[in-house]
Amino acid sequence: MNKFSWYEAKSVEDALQQVNSTLSDELYEATDEAAVFKSGGIDVFDWVKQGILKPQKIVNIRNIPGLDKISYDRKEGLRMGSNVTLAEIASHPEIKTRYLALHLAVNHAATPQLRNMSTLGGNIAQRNRCWYFRSADHDCFRKGGDRCFARHSKTGENENHAILDNGSCVSVHASSIATALMAFNASVVIVNAEGQQKTVQMDDFFVSAGEDIAMENILKPKEIITEIILPTPSKNTKSAYIKQVARESYDWSLADVAVVMEVSGNTCKSANIVLGAAAPVPYRSLEAQQAMENKTITGENAKAAAEAAMAKARPLSKNDYKVPLFVSTIKQTIMEIS
Ligand SMILES: Cc1cc2nc3c(=O)[nH]c(=O)nc-3n(C[C@H](O)[C@H](O)[C@H](O)COP(=O)(O)OP(=O)(O)OC[C@H]3O[C@@H](n4cnc5c(N)ncnc54)[C@H](O)[C@@H]3O)c2cc1C
Repeated sequence: MNKFSWYEAKSVEDALQQVNSTLSDELYEATDEAAVFKSGGIDVFDWVKQGILKPQKIVNIRNIPGLDKISYDRKEGLRMGSNVTLAEIASHPEIKTRYLALHLAVNHAATPQLRNMSTLGGNIAQRNRCWYFRSADHDCFRKGGDRCFARHSKTGENENHAILDNGSCVSVHASSIATALMAFNASVVIVNAEGQQKTVQMDDFFVSAGEDIAMENILKPKEIITEIILPTPSKNTKSAYIKQVARESYDWSLADVAVVMEVSGNTCKSANIVLGAAAPVPYRSLEAQQAMENKTITGENAKAAAEAAMAKARPLSKNDYKVPLFVSTIKQTIMEIS
């Protein structure tokens, strides 16, 4: 691990100022590792301990006042500060009642100890868990190298990897919480170094590997997420979430599905169906959404929607099990709504 200095940020402006004052623009071009924001620190310190990230300075944004609030009202919807922990989301009564899929996703993420440490901003900004990407010995596409080690049909260890949108990078996004957030049409509030604030839909926050192989989201090094906002669900909104893992205790997702549906009786009026661990970023299945629209929620229709979601799947050498796994998980998640 390299030596680094530590700065306790007192405000968002202060944190951004630290990054600015540490780096000239030229230096920033030369290395994006000079200063990093740390919130819960789980992902950041993994990188530093593995020697992949060698920051000169860590700017701790975890204790910035005001970023740790959760509020809900009918007009504003659900507003969660970026430093809210997963444990705080998991135990919030209003979230359990009105945003069940999010409650379930958070409760199934990581372990109780990790949920106490992990923050919402850090969770959606964490990098993927592809073992080649995280290995200092493997210079893969995402790190500017010339190959994807996971894709190799004989030597590639790709059992956990992507089956959709996997033309360039085959990693899957690590956040299973983003699956549920996207299904609720969440938006992300970002402040930049000039103090300007923008709000982007979560669908636009993530960047597909085809668009930019180096990025998983639109965040620039001098930008901070301050809030995640979910619109108020209507009284006819129902939601469900299922996560499949290899181990019973806790594990990263092999396949997870969030469904948020507007219903009229047992008919689906419209649906948001999002898949996690299917693609390099959380994947909204327009095919499944369309297949369910104005259909009764039956096993047959749910299966047809699940199969539609998998029509474009291109499994790798060791992960074709994911296709039937997603078909059954999507079907099961839709049926939870009925
Ligand atoms: C064993 C294990 C199992 C896990 N299982 C799951 C799981 O099942 N599902 C799941 O979703 N997650 C899982 N996680 C992820 C974990 O829950 C954390 O969410 C994640 O590691 C990062 O959160 P953090 O707050 O520690 O972020 P940090 O490590 O502090 O930051 C992560 C990244 O986000 C950036 N960042 C942090 N906050 C902000 C901000 N406000 N604005 C801009 N950038 C920011 C940092 O600079 C860094 O690049 C698991 C982690 C481990 C170690």
